[in-house]
Amino acid sequence: MRYRSTRGQAPLVSADKALRAGVAPDGGLYLPETLPQFEPGDFAGNASLGALANRLLAPFFAGSPLAQPLEAICASAFDFPLPLVTPDKSEPGLQVLELFHGPTGAFKDFGARFLFRAFDAIASADDPITVLAATSGDTGGAVGCAAEGARHARAVILFPRGRISAFQERQLCCWREPVTALRVTGDFDACQRLVKSAFADRALSARHGLTSANSISIGRLLPQMAYWARASLDVFKATGIKPGLIAPTGNLGNAFAAVLARACGLPIGPVVLATNANGTLADWHASGEYTARQSIATLANAMDVGAPSNFERLSGFGDELIEDVVRVEDEAIRARIAASHQQSGYIACPHTATALEAFARMTPETQAERPWIAAATAHPYKFADVVEPLIGLRLTPPPALAEVLERPVHVSDIAATLEALAAQLGAPAEN
Ligand SMILES: *Cc1c(COP(=O)(O)O)cnc(C)c1O
Repeated sequence: MRYRSTRGQAPLVSADKALRAGVAPDGGLYLPETLPQFEPGDFAGNASLGALANRLLAPFFAGSPLAQPLEAICASAFDFPLPLVTPDKSEPGLQVLELFHGPTGAFKDFGARFLFRAFDAIASADDPITVLAATSGDTGGAVGCAAEGARHARAVILFPRGRISAFQERQLCCWREPVTALRVTGDFDACQRLVKSAFADRALSARHGLTSANSISIGRLLPQMAYWARASLDVFKATGIKPGLIAPTGNLGNAFAAVLARACGLPIGPVVLATNANGTLADWHASGEYTARQSIATLANAMDVGAPSNFERLSGFGDELIEDVVRVEDEAIRARIAASHQQSGYIACPHTATALEAFARMTPETQAERPWIAAATAHPYKFADVVEPLIGLRLTPPPALAEVLERPVHVSDIAATLEALAAQLGAPAEN
């Protein structure tokens, strides 16, 4: 399998090269040159998620150095539960696919764990890989956690001093080697500028094998197909009907994985996007015109995106694959969290609430046409400050998140300069 750039001006590359590069040299995003075609029966006997992922992803890594380690990567990356639950027994047409049972309590664990294991498999002592991540949210924690124990790849995480919550900071600073957390004197933009200038410094970049793990990495998108495949195969087997999917959407990574899985022949019906008040995708779907915006802050902050980075991939696939885009304002997020808890006891995070609200706004006919699967993307405990007042209950952390609170913290403070970052890269901080 080779990968092409969405802009068509870059050479075709193998999977490992596409992963390492992140962005194609022409500024475009990598897409597989061809798509394998599967039948539901092809996955019979793949009982575990790891085995299913290996079967699904094998064609995408064929002919690359990742083909051989793929099975082990999938088995160790996807070793946590993936429940498909019916939150409200009086509404059996809606199931929720809980993607938050990984070690950092958000669906980013799927992509980050796969990608980091893949990096570790292609890196070597002579050819190291350093993942440089500027983060304000879930991705840094998932990448740091995924990097623990890696042999040849390491993670360096930058975050702005005093701009993230205490729990978020812990979740960035609690990981063991080879993870370095850097608290930058500056805002999030300063962190991003620092990362960009490090990539632009060719000598520095080559010496450390700098790369990124952001949501445009094809190495995060591909493995995210696995959970959509699992859920749709199970529902199709039970009902004979292709389920519709509802994806809480920010940068379109989760939703694009659903579209890709469908294009590979998985039994997936219409795909509905649920967004927060950021209206770029809803306006595009309504008008056919795409206009990037400044992002606005909402309760579902991991989806605060005004220029979804994977849009460039989606537009190549054709709009007809997206059935609907439902925009959910903060007020409706709050109301949905409260109503869901009141009706059935189900507790949703603000991101998940956008998907539940998208289902609630469908006509009864659309709801009844087929089974629907909504993704739950974060554990509600991560957003306890929003959720608790709405449901009138204290949330308890799941064991993985409780453990984060117990771990020792390792962090170094740096100025927002390339010299300071380069010094950290050259001599990893003594934790
Ligand atoms: C990242 C994230 C999203 C958005 O996913 P995209 O792939 O960027 O569309 C939704 N919910 C949570 C909790 C997230 O962390």
